[in-house]
Amino acid sequence: MSEKLGFIGLGIMGGGMAANLVRAGFDVTVWNRTASKMAPVTDLGASAAGSPREVAERSTVVLICVADTPDVVAVTEGPDGILAGLSPGSLVVDHSTISPSETRRLAGMAEEAGGSWLDGPVSGGSEGAELGTLSIMVGGEASDLERVRPYLDAMGKTITHVGPVGSGQMVKLVNQVLVVVNMQAACEALLLADAGGLDLETALSALTGGAANSWMLANRGPQMIVRDWRPGFTIDLQQKDIRLVLEAGDELGVPLPTTGLVFQLYRSLQHRGLGSEGQHALVKALEHMMGAEVGEAPE
Ligand code: NAP
Repeated sequence: MSEKLGFIGLGIMGGGMAANLVRAGFDVTVWNRTASKMAPVTDLGASAAGSPREVAERSTVVLICVADTPDVVAVTEGPDGILAGLSPGSLVVDHSTISPSETRRLAGMAEEAGGSWLDGPVSGGSEGAELGTLSIMVGGEASDLERVRPYLDAMGKTITHVGPVGSGQMVKLVNQVLVVVNMQAACEALLLADAGGLDLETALSALTGGAANSWMLANRGPQMIVRDWRPGFTIDLQQKDIRLVLEAGDELGVPLPTTGLVFQLYRSLQHRGLGSEGQHALVKALEHMMGAEVGEAPE
């Protein structure tokens, strides 16, 4: 028999992930800080709780997908947090992208409460969350992963055990180096294609069929050429991830020059008030240098 699941954080990612759990027939209790965002998932059959603590009291497996490290701390600790309601033997799976060292601290607290913790950050964008095709990078005990594998299978296509607690977050930081460097490459490439007078849709079709393709080019390129800046992933959250990458690089003495450059370009966009736009609006930083714009907004 399946366990009682709890899901905390129904944003762009969590909303799609929780919906896929409900659609797969699991018993899911949800909580979101902004209560109105629970409606799409409760309409599918999930029940709503009044706090993270209540979710934990009603669940044997609690999944989290909130924004940043302090936000995971906020829903985990304190009188209304998950740990206050966690029963011995319960398991927490954190799908947010947060600090590996803070993850290890929170896992220790869950253990003290008689439970356990897996870090399971995800990759695959809002599209992957909606379609249930995410890649989930799991750190923690292998037996804990086997326990939750049926639930992760409902949300993802590639579920990989990458090592002890904290390793999932570390792999995700490595993932983010590739994401932002590919994003930067896609922006530079499309700006050059446009300046060279190419039809951008045709150029994209040729480029995505060859060795230069990337997820960013294939999924965000089409948005960029019609100047659609709606976020699958916001600049503010992308910047949070790069900060975690650069902190880890600093701690470990690893040079990350291109990642550092992208951090500075995103910072300039945040100063222009664009932090809530999609991460592909990175091209606007290059447009600013050039005094020209890529693509055309649809009429
Ligand atoms: P989002 O749409 O901004 O959603 C953030 C969620 O966190 C919302 O439910 C928000 O609640 C909640 N939250 C934030 N601070 C909170 C706090 N202090 N207490 C309680 N709840 C809080 O972000 P997202 O794109 O879904 O991203 C969620 C996580 O997945 C992040 O760690 C992100 O890095 C990671 N991720 C995102 C993507 C992507 O493509 N979007 C891909 C891979 C991984 P409210 O509704 O009340 O604001």
